[in-house]
Amino acid sequence: MNQHSRGIIVAGNWKMNQTNADTSSFLRTVNEHPLIPTLQSSPVTSLIFPSFLSLMTAQNEKGSSLEIGSQNTHWEDHGAFTGEVSTTALKEIGIHWSLTGHSERRQYFGETNQSVQNRTLHLLKNGFRVILCVGETQKERESGQTKTVLENQMNECISESMIPYLNGTLVIAYEPVWAIGTGLTASPRQAEEAHQLLRKNLWDRFGIEASGRTSILYGGSVKPENFEELLECPNIDGGLVGGASLSAHSFLSLLETAARVAEKD
Ligand code: PEP
Repeated sequence: MNQHSRGIIVAGNWKMNQTNADTSSFLRTVNEHPLIPTLQSSPVTSLIFPSFLSLMTAQNEKGSSLEIGSQNTHWEDHGAFTGEVSTTALKEIGIHWSLTGHSERRQYFGETNQSVQNRTLHLLKNGFRVILCVGETQKERESGQTKTVLENQMNECISESMIPYLNGTLVIAYEPVWAIGTGLTASPRQAEEAHQLLRKNLWDRFGIEASGRTSILYGGSVKPENFEELLECPNIDGGLVGGASLSAHSFLSLLETAARVAEKD
């Protein structure tokens, strides 16, 4: 089995950054790069999660090698949920990826493991691929709670109803909160240790096949300089990248690294 038998996913989370004009300019630069057409026949999946207002622009201008996803999606099809977006609206513009459980949603917008589970299940049932984020805070790591926190998040966010989607449709992102946007990156050893724990959780609860087929991405100050050593870890199947995905130049550099690593396998 080659190391990246699950492929490599490079996902850019733009958070509340980039206007429509920025999105167009980013995509123009990215799509002119000679690497981009080669990605279609490679095991590398490249994805961008723009803010809601730029989704349509991104979807219209993404070309054929990039995919676009929503940063957040509600668990109902429609209704009185001010500030939310539905799978119905996203599907209408051809979007089939979403993030759930990002630590900024948990920290600032009251997201809980239960609401993450609700959003994730609804998305999966509606044909979306989902990147579900988990991760411990600095305080939790320092007080020796990393394992308990990650296991609770996995147990409470991933329910038995999701078993049919543990075939690569559901993707997990390990994002230690202390490494997000701080410039601090988990060492490859720390990241691999956490990824092994998450994979073991899937194995214990859902079996070897589900565990083997689920991609687990690392997120937390990934940049072109540290991506390759992270991708060399056996249980790291790609990156969820904030800051370093905002410039076309550094996003392309991450894609180049992923393509080179995939080729080496
Ligand atoms: C993120 O937004 O998920 C993230 C990991 O951000 P950054 O790469 O900037 O740490």
